[in-house]
Amino acid sequence: MAKAPKKKKKELKPKLRIERRFSPESSINPRILYALFGVGAMVVGAGAYWQFGRDASMPPPPVAQLGFYLLVAGAVLIAAALWFSSSGDAAIRVGAPGIALERGGLRRMPWYEVGSISWASGTEALNISGKDESGSDFSFQVRAKGHAPACAWILQEARERVPQVLEVDEDVLKRFPAGDPQAGTTLQQDLQVVGKRCGVSGKVIAYEPDARVCPKCERIYHKYKVPKECKCGADLTAFRDQVEDDEDEA
Ligand SMILES: [Zn+2]
Repeated sequence: MAKAPKKKKKELKPKLRIERRFSPESSINPRILYALFGVGAMVVGAGAYWQFGRDASMPPPPVAQLGFYLLVAGAVLIAAALWFSSSGDAAIRVGAPGIALERGGLRRMPWYEVGSISWASGTEALNISGKDESGSDFSFQVRAKGHAPACAWILQEARERVPQVLEVDEDVLKRFPAGDPQAGTTLQQDLQVVGKRCGVSGKVIAYEPDARVCPKCERIYHKYKVPKECKCGADLTAFRDQVEDDEDEA
C-alpha cells in the first residue's frame, strides 16, 4: 500500500533562502591572461625543443643555452599569468544566511552576528566585523576592486536586514546603489535550526518545529520565548503564537 502523503508543515519558514556567490574578479582583461598563458606555453615548448629535442646533426643554437633561457622565460610568463588570474581575494557569499568568506573552507557571519559594516577608504573596502556561526570573533574586508558586485549586495542586504550596523557614508551607498540581480551565482541554502541557541533563553533548539526564525536577521528563538521585537528591530508579533509566559511583557 502507498504511504500516506506527508503532512504539510505549517511552520513559519523563510520561503526561498538564497545566497549569491561571487568569485573575485581578476584585475586584468581575461584575453591578456589567455595570451600570456599561450605565449608562455609556446616559449616553453620551443625551449624544450632547443634544450632536449634537437638531434646532434642539427646546427647549434644561435645563442649558447638558448633552450634553457626559453624554458625559464616561458615559465616566468605562465607564472605571471597565474599570478594575475588569482587576485588573492576569497570568494564571497551574500544572501539570507549572511555574509560568508570562502577561503579553503566556508566561514559565515549570520546577519544577527554582524556587529558593524564600515568603509575603509584607504583600501577601498568594506570592513565587516562580528561573529561567525560558532560565536567566535570574525572580521574581514571585501575590496571594491575585484568584489564590486558583492559589495553592492552586502550593502543592499544590510540595509534591508540590519540597517543599524551600517556605518557607511551616503557617498559609499551612492557608489553601490543596488545589487545587480544578474551578478554572481545563486545558491539555495536550507536553514539548519537544530543545535542553534535561542536568542532569548540561550537554550539549544533540539526539535525543528520549536524554532522561530526572524525573517530579517535570522536570529533563532524558541517558540515559547519569541519577543515582540527582534534585537534587529524586526516585528515578531506574528511569530508569538505559542509564547507561554509573558514575563517580558512590561
Ligand atoms: Zn531579527
